[in-house]
Amino acid sequence: MIYIGCHLSVTDGYEAMGKTMRRFGGNTFAWFTRNPRGGRTKPVVQEDVDALRLHLEKEGFGPLVAHGSYTMNLCSAKEETRANGLDMLTQDLERMELLPGNYYNFHPGAHTGQGTETGMEQIASALNQVMKPGMKTTVLLETMAGKGSEIGGTFEELREIISRIECKDRIGVCFDTCHTWDAGYDIVSDLDGVLQHFDDVIGLSKLKAVHFNDSKNGCGSHKDRHEKLGQGCIGMEAMKRIALHPSLQGLPFILETPNDDEGYMKEIHTVLGWDRE
Ligand SMILES: [Zn+2]
Repeated sequence: MIYIGCHLSVTDGYEAMGKTMRRFGGNTFAWFTRNPRGGRTKPVVQEDVDALRLHLEKEGFGPLVAHGSYTMNLCSAKEETRANGLDMLTQDLERMELLPGNYYNFHPGAHTGQGTETGMEQIASALNQVMKPGMKTTVLLETMAGKGSEIGGTFEELREIISRIECKDRIGVCFDTCHTWDAGYDIVSDLDGVLQHFDDVIGLSKLKAVHFNDSKNGCGSHKDRHEKLGQGCIGMEAMKRIALHPSLQGLPFILETPNDDEGYMKEIHTVLGWDRE
């Protein structure tokens, strides 16, 4: 069973996203909780959120995967950037509680010269200030390409952050296929081995969502440039093996491929076709 969808714009509200995804043929989706680059937000209308919840239930959608802003860096060397990040995280998680039972994914951050240990400590500390017992949202750390001073380019770094989180049952990982490949994990010729390694280091029970992207670059390139399914270095056969892997069944798969609406509809259709074969 596959839940598949793509990123949608929240501009027209929450219920509109559910309807758009139904039209696209998918059964999950992602959205940026605020402008991915600018960081501003619109107020949330409770009736709109309630209408989306009804829609999700009626249409049998899987869990949704909201995405924190790219400008949020909880481990920047600049104190002001860290404080801004903490504000965004606080507001985003408050808002997510209006849509209980879904995921909030974000890029762990870039330590910008402070070192990995300091960075991981700052990320965990920020999360521990905001995550509360009883919260209904699960926070997901995204696997990263390991570009520059990015944290999360290895499973070990993600495990280290997770080990410092107090709300253990509300923290997980979003596995980005492009990032993980770019980070040096060979999901093309050794998918079983990579997932086994993930299980050994973090535990597959923590793997809650997949960002389903091909990559413009080779394994270990540390680049982070997404490509359409089958048109990159991962390739269609490997993408299909990932989508159908027994360890990943039932997870929401989110496309972050460079596409227009029609392109997303086509990719959603392709993935659902594999599921029905
Ligand atoms: Zn991603």
